[in-house]
Amino acid sequence: MNVNDGEQFDFINKAARHILAELPPHVILVAAAKTRSAWEVSAVMQAGVTHIGHNYVQEAEAMIPAIGEKAVWHFIGHLQKNKVKKAARMFDMIETVDSIDLATRLDAECSKLGKIMTILVEINSGREESKAGVLPEEVEPFVAALKDFKNIRVEGMMTMGPFMGDPEEARPYFVETRKIFESLKEKGIPNITMRYLSMGMSNSYKVAIEEGANIVRLGTLLFTPR
Ligand SMILES: *Cc1c(COP(=O)(O)O)cnc(C)c1O
Repeated sequence: MNVNDGEQFDFINKAARHILAELPPHVILVAAAKTRSAWEVSAVMQAGVTHIGHNYVQEAEAMIPAIGEKAVWHFIGHLQKNKVKKAARMFDMIETVDSIDLATRLDAECSKLGKIMTILVEINSGREESKAGVLPEEVEPFVAALKDFKNIRVEGMMTMGPFMGDPEEARPYFVETRKIFESLKEKGIPNITMRYLSMGMSNSYKVAIEEGANIVRLGTLLFTPR
Protein backbone atom coordinates (compact mmCIF):
# COMPACT_ATOMS: atom_id res chain seq x y z
CA MET A 1 0.00 0.00 0.00
CA ASN A 2 1.48 3.39 -0.91
CA VAL A 3 0.57 6.83 0.46
CA ASN A 4 -2.09 7.27 -2.14
CA ASP A 5 -3.68 3.96 -1.17
CA GLY A 6 -3.73 5.14 2.43
CA GLU A 7 -5.84 8.09 1.40
CA GLN A 8 -8.13 5.83 -0.59
CA PHE A 9 -8.44 3.51 2.40
CA ASP A 10 -9.79 6.44 4.43
CA PHE A 11 -12.17 7.49 1.65
CA ILE A 12 -13.58 4.00 1.29
CA ASN A 13 -13.78 3.55 5.04
CA LYS A 14 -15.71 6.82 5.45
CA ALA A 15 -18.06 6.09 2.56
CA ALA A 16 -18.85 2.67 3.99
CA ARG A 17 -19.57 4.12 7.45
CA HIS A 18 -21.90 6.64 5.86
CA ILE A 19 -23.82 4.00 3.90
CA LEU A 20 -24.06 1.66 6.90
CA ALA A 21 -25.38 4.46 9.09
CA GLU A 22 -28.14 5.21 6.60
CA LEU A 23 -29.33 1.65 6.07
CA PRO A 24 -32.34 0.45 8.05
CA PRO A 25 -31.03 -1.85 10.78
CA HIS A 26 -32.74 -4.98 9.41
CA VAL A 27 -30.91 -4.71 6.07
CA ILE A 28 -27.68 -6.68 5.57
CA LEU A 29 -25.06 -4.96 3.46
CA VAL A 30 -23.03 -7.34 1.32
CA ALA A 31 -19.89 -5.75 -0.09
CA ALA A 32 -19.62 -6.98 -3.69
CA ALA A 33 -15.87 -7.46 -3.76
CA LYS A 34 -15.22 -8.58 -7.34
CA THR A 35 -11.90 -7.22 -8.68
CA ARG A 36 -11.20 -5.48 -5.33
CA SER A 37 -8.01 -6.00 -3.41
CA ALA A 38 -7.72 -7.22 0.17
CA TRP A 39 -6.97 -3.73 1.53
CA GLU A 40 -10.13 -2.35 -0.07
CA VAL A 41 -12.13 -5.09 1.60
CA SER A 42 -10.30 -4.38 4.88
CA ALA A 43 -11.34 -0.73 4.59
CA VAL A 44 -15.05 -1.59 4.46
CA MET A 45 -14.67 -4.21 7.17
CA GLN A 46 -13.05 -1.69 9.49
CA ALA A 47 -16.09 0.48 8.88
CA GLY A 48 -18.30 -2.33 10.18
CA VAL A 49 -19.26 -4.30 7.06
CA THR A 50 -19.32 -8.00 7.96
CA HIS A 51 -20.77 -9.66 4.84
CA ILE A 52 -18.58 -9.98 1.74
CA GLY A 53 -19.81 -11.19 -1.64
CA HIS A 54 -17.71 -12.82 -4.34
CA ASN A 55 -18.54 -13.62 -7.95
CA TYR A 56 -15.50 -15.76 -8.57
CA VAL A 57 -14.32 -18.72 -6.52
CA GLN A 58 -10.73 -18.06 -7.54
CA GLU A 59 -10.78 -14.49 -6.21
CA ALA A 60 -12.37 -15.61 -2.98
CA GLU A 61 -9.76 -18.32 -2.61
CA ALA A 62 -7.07 -15.68 -2.38
CA MET A 63 -8.97 -13.44 0.02
CA ILE A 64 -10.80 -15.70 2.46
CA PRO A 65 -7.73 -17.23 4.15
CA ALA A 66 -6.44 -13.73 4.92
CA ILE A 67 -9.68 -12.46 6.42
CA GLY A 68 -11.29 -15.70 7.58
CA GLU A 69 -14.19 -15.97 9.97
CA LYS A 70 -14.38 -12.27 10.68
CA ALA A 71 -16.64 -12.09 7.62
CA VAL A 72 -19.71 -13.94 6.41
CA TRP A 73 -18.97 -15.02 2.84
CA HIS A 74 -21.66 -14.86 0.18
CA PHE A 75 -21.28 -16.33 -3.29
CA ILE A 76 -23.11 -14.03 -5.71
CA GLY A 77 -21.81 -15.08 -9.14
CA HIS A 78 -22.58 -17.88 -11.53
CA LEU A 79 -21.30 -21.09 -9.93
CA GLN A 80 -19.64 -23.43 -12.39
CA LYS A 81 -19.89 -27.16 -11.85
CA ASN A 82 -16.16 -27.62 -11.43
CA LYS A 83 -16.06 -24.97 -8.68
CA VAL A 84 -18.85 -26.36 -6.50
CA LYS A 85 -16.54 -28.37 -4.27
CA LYS A 86 -14.40 -25.36 -3.40
CA ALA A 87 -17.39 -23.07 -3.03
CA ALA A 88 -19.03 -25.51 -0.61
CA ARG A 89 -15.98 -25.29 1.60
CA MET A 90 -15.38 -21.53 1.42
CA PHE A 91 -18.78 -19.86 1.52
CA ASP A 92 -21.49 -19.40 4.15
CA MET A 93 -24.27 -18.62 1.71
CA ILE A 94 -24.76 -19.34 -1.99
CA GLU A 95 -27.15 -16.70 -3.34
CA THR A 96 -27.38 -17.95 -6.89
CA VAL A 97 -28.87 -21.45 -7.00
CA ASP A 98 -30.96 -21.79 -10.14
CA SER A 99 -30.81 -25.43 -11.22
CA ILE A 100 -31.52 -28.82 -9.70
CA ASP A 101 -28.19 -30.01 -11.01
CA LEU A 102 -26.32 -27.29 -9.10
CA ALA A 103 -28.39 -27.94 -5.96
CA THR A 104 -27.64 -31.67 -6.17
CA ARG A 105 -23.91 -31.12 -6.54
CA LEU A 106 -23.84 -28.56 -3.74
CA ASP A 107 -25.81 -30.83 -1.43
CA ALA A 108 -23.40 -33.70 -2.10
CA GLU A 109 -20.30 -31.58 -1.41
CA CYS A 110 -21.79 -30.09 1.75
CA SER A 111 -22.72 -33.56 2.92
CA LYS A 112 -19.05 -34.63 2.60
CA LEU A 113 -18.08 -31.60 4.68
CA GLY A 114 -20.79 -32.21 7.28
CA LYS A 115 -22.04 -28.72 6.57
CA ILE A 116 -25.49 -27.25 6.04
CA MET A 117 -25.37 -24.47 3.46
CA THR A 118 -27.83 -21.62 3.36
CA ILE A 119 -28.88 -21.00 -0.22
CA LEU A 120 -31.01 -18.43 -1.99
CA VAL A 121 -32.88 -19.19 -5.19
CA GLU A 122 -31.92 -16.79 -7.96
CA ILE A 123 -34.93 -15.44 -9.83
CA ASN A 124 -34.68 -14.19 -13.41
CA SER A 125 -37.21 -11.47 -12.70
CA GLY A 126 -36.59 -9.71 -16.02
CA ARG A 127 -37.12 -12.96 -17.96
CA GLU A 128 -33.90 -12.15 -19.81
CA GLU A 129 -32.50 -14.91 -21.99
CA SER A 130 -28.94 -13.82 -21.27
CA LYS A 131 -29.38 -13.97 -17.49
CA ALA A 132 -29.21 -16.79 -14.99
CA GLY A 133 -32.05 -17.56 -12.64
CA VAL A 134 -35.33 -19.42 -12.40
CA LEU A 135 -38.26 -17.89 -14.28
CA PRO A 136 -40.94 -16.43 -12.00
CA GLU A 137 -43.57 -18.99 -13.02
CA GLU A 138 -41.16 -21.87 -12.33
CA VAL A 139 -40.05 -20.80 -8.87
CA GLU A 140 -42.63 -22.68 -6.83
CA PRO A 141 -42.03 -26.16 -8.31
CA PHE A 142 -38.29 -25.46 -8.24
CA VAL A 143 -38.30 -24.60 -4.55
CA ALA A 144 -40.54 -27.55 -3.75
CA ALA A 145 -38.01 -29.84 -5.44
CA LEU A 146 -35.29 -28.60 -3.06
CA LYS A 147 -37.11 -29.36 0.18
CA ASP A 148 -35.74 -32.87 0.65
CA PHE A 149 -32.05 -32.08 0.33
CA LYS A 150 -30.37 -32.55 3.69
CA ASN A 151 -27.31 -30.32 3.38
CA ILE A 152 -28.67 -27.26 1.64
CA ARG A 153 -31.39 -25.11 3.11
CA VAL A 154 -33.41 -22.64 1.09
CA GLU A 155 -33.74 -19.43 3.10
CA GLY A 156 -34.86 -16.92 0.52
CA MET A 157 -34.43 -15.38 -2.89
CA MET A 158 -32.07 -13.22 -4.86
CA THR A 159 -32.60 -11.27 -8.06
CA MET A 160 -30.48 -9.05 -10.24
CA GLY A 161 -33.24 -7.58 -12.39
CA PRO A 162 -32.47 -6.02 -15.75
CA PHE A 163 -29.80 -3.37 -15.51
CA MET A 164 -31.42 0.05 -15.72
CA GLY A 165 -29.96 3.53 -15.57
CA ASP A 166 -33.04 4.77 -13.75
CA PRO A 167 -33.68 2.83 -10.52
CA GLU A 168 -37.43 3.40 -10.87
CA GLU A 169 -37.37 1.13 -13.90
CA ALA A 170 -36.07 -1.70 -11.71
CA ARG A 171 -38.95 -1.34 -9.25
CA PRO A 172 -41.47 -3.63 -11.04
CA TYR A 173 -38.94 -6.50 -11.02
CA PHE A 174 -38.34 -6.07 -7.29
CA VAL A 175 -42.08 -5.95 -6.71
CA GLU A 176 -42.59 -9.17 -8.65
CA THR A 177 -39.80 -10.96 -6.79
CA ARG A 178 -41.22 -9.79 -3.45
CA LYS A 179 -44.64 -11.19 -4.42
CA ILE A 180 -43.17 -14.61 -5.17
CA PHE A 181 -41.23 -14.45 -1.90
CA GLU A 182 -44.39 -13.64 0.09
CA SER A 183 -46.53 -16.24 -1.64
CA LEU A 184 -43.97 -18.96 -0.93
CA LYS A 185 -43.75 -17.82 2.66
CA GLU A 186 -47.52 -18.23 2.97
CA LYS A 187 -47.40 -21.70 1.41
CA GLY A 188 -45.18 -22.84 4.27
CA ILE A 189 -43.37 -25.60 2.37
CA PRO A 190 -41.58 -27.86 4.89
CA ASN A 191 -37.82 -27.16 5.20
CA ILE A 192 -38.14 -24.00 3.14
CA THR A 193 -37.70 -20.68 4.95
CA MET A 194 -38.37 -17.33 3.32
CA ARG A 195 -36.12 -15.11 5.42
CA TYR A 196 -33.74 -13.34 3.06
CA LEU A 197 -34.64 -11.25 0.06
CA SER A 198 -31.47 -10.15 -1.74
CA MET A 199 -32.12 -7.42 -4.29
CA GLY A 200 -30.60 -4.09 -5.20
CA MET A 201 -27.17 -2.92 -6.24
CA SER A 202 -25.46 0.48 -6.11
CA ASN A 203 -27.92 2.29 -8.34
CA SER A 204 -31.07 0.55 -7.15
CA TYR A 205 -30.68 -0.45 -3.51
CA LYS A 206 -32.92 2.27 -2.10
CA VAL A 207 -35.80 1.22 -4.33
CA ALA A 208 -35.07 -2.43 -3.51
CA ILE A 209 -35.28 -1.74 0.23
CA GLU A 210 -38.59 0.08 -0.26
CA GLU A 211 -39.83 -3.07 -1.97
CA GLY A 212 -38.75 -5.40 0.81
CA ALA A 213 -35.09 -6.29 0.26
CA ASN A 214 -33.24 -7.20 3.45
CA ILE A 215 -29.95 -7.96 1.71
CA VAL A 216 -28.41 -5.40 -0.66
CA ARG A 217 -25.24 -6.03 -2.65
CA LEU A 218 -23.10 -2.96 -3.17
CA GLY A 219 -19.88 -2.69 -5.16
CA THR A 220 -19.35 0.57 -7.03
CA LEU A 221 -20.97 2.83 -4.44
CA LEU A 222 -19.03 1.27 -1.60
CA PHE A 223 -15.58 0.97 -3.14
CA THR A 224 -15.25 3.94 -5.45
CA PRO A 225 -13.64 6.86 -3.66
CA ARG A 226 -15.45 10.12 -4.26
C1 LIG B 1 -21.12 -6.59 -9.03
C2 LIG B 1 -22.36 -7.10 -8.44
C3 LIG B 1 -23.11 -6.33 -7.54
C4 LIG B 1 -22.74 -4.90 -7.18
O1 LIG B 1 -22.94 -4.06 -8.28
P1 LIG B 1 -22.66 -2.49 -8.16
O2 LIG B 1 -23.50 -1.91 -9.23
O3 LIG B 1 -21.21 -2.31 -8.40
O4 LIG B 1 -23.08 -2.10 -6.80
C5 LIG B 1 -24.24 -6.89 -6.99
N1 LIG B 1 -24.63 -8.15 -7.28
C6 LIG B 1 -23.94 -8.91 -8.14
C7 LIG B 1 -24.42 -10.30 -8.42
C8 LIG B 1 -22.80 -8.41 -8.74
O5 LIG B 1 -22.12 -9.19 -9.60
